[in-house]
Amino acid sequence: MQPELGFHEERTAALIAEVLQGLRLPVRRGVGRTGVVAHIGSGHPCVAIRADMDALPVQEVNDVPYASQVPGVMHACGHDGNIAMALGAAGILAQSADRPQGEVRFLFQPCEEGTDDEGKSGAQRMLDDGALEGVDAVLSLHVGGTLPAGTVAVSAGYMLAAADSWEATLTGQGCHGAYPHLGLDPFSLLALVIQAINNIVPRRIDPLHPAVISIGAIHGGGAGNIIPGEVRLEGTIRSFDDETRQHLHRELERALALVRALGGEYTLALRKGGPATYNDPAIVTAIQSAATDLFGPDALAAQEVGMGADDFAWMLQRAPGVAFQIGVQRGDERRLHHSPDFDFDDSVLPKGAALLAETACRLLARSDLPRYEPGSRT
Ligand SMILES: [Zn+2]
Ligand SMILES: [Zn+2]
Repeated sequence: MQPELGFHEERTAALIAEVLQGLRLPVRRGVGRTGVVAHIGSGHPCVAIRADMDALPVQEVNDVPYASQVPGVMHACGHDGNIAMALGAAGILAQSADRPQGEVRFLFQPCEEGTDDEGKSGAQRMLDDGALEGVDAVLSLHVGGTLPAGTVAVSAGYMLAAADSWEATLTGQGCHGAYPHLGLDPFSLLALVIQAINNIVPRRIDPLHPAVISIGAIHGGGAGNIIPGEVRLEGTIRSFDDETRQHLHRELERALALVRALGGEYTLALRKGGPATYNDPAIVTAIQSAATDLFGPDALAAQEVGMGADDFAWMLQRAPGVAFQIGVQRGDERRLHHSPDFDFDDSVLPKGAALLAETACRLLARSDLPRYEPGSRT
């Protein structure tokens, strides 16, 4: 009911800290600007559980007692659910006497949905502050609003893409619209460049390696009878593996360089964004076996792969881990993430908490304490 936007999670962080302190856990606030870090146990191995805390600039339309009380801000991605599951796992682990040796660290991360004025997201800020030092594995469980309630969606390998952005300027020579031969029309250069860019993925990239280049904005000109001197374009590049990513960057440069053959010029500003999300196969296996033992084999589903991006991928650069989902769909309603009517079945949250706690124990046990027996905890 009190959602807060990225890097403004003050009350949220205070509430999280209060719950963790109630469990008698050591808590650090202000990590990665507004993040909260706590831990249970110490030493190696160290398993981290990450939950994002930020809400979205969306006006909630749901007429429910727990609707957002903040105008224009809403937990439209369900990060309040992610927080609740991680706190639930902390509660379970804090009260279990025969936890395997090692550390479970809780990372309540600010701003997953955006970046600050220096272009850094919450995960990057947490990394900058050393929140992942010594972590051997990191788990991120997200509620899935369109997955059947209680379903655990987890798969190994690439899940989400690396996201790079670019801006280019094509320069010709401005002139009167009635005398195009006296200048160099940047729109005619643009027409060729668009064709070349759109041919990169189907003709220059191995079809077995997912890739996208999209143009999202074109700006140029101001009057019908004037050919302008330049045109600007902006776009996004998505890829999974590094080799394809570099290849896309090179091919974009080549497509733009076409204008030189025709007497024009170009500039390209390419900004590398977040890396791809890669789920570690061994950790996926641990989650799958925990989910099967807790909820039965029918609880498991394959995870949907997409060319979107999640800033959790920055944490996966530092430690192996898995981003996975638990279904929280309300019956067969379609409440889409980031929509003003987003809502979910919160009766599933205890299951998510149990799954995080159980998986963390299994991961701790696997490296150091083979005598740990799942289910022996009370
Ligand atoms: Zn989101
Ligand atoms: Zn989200």
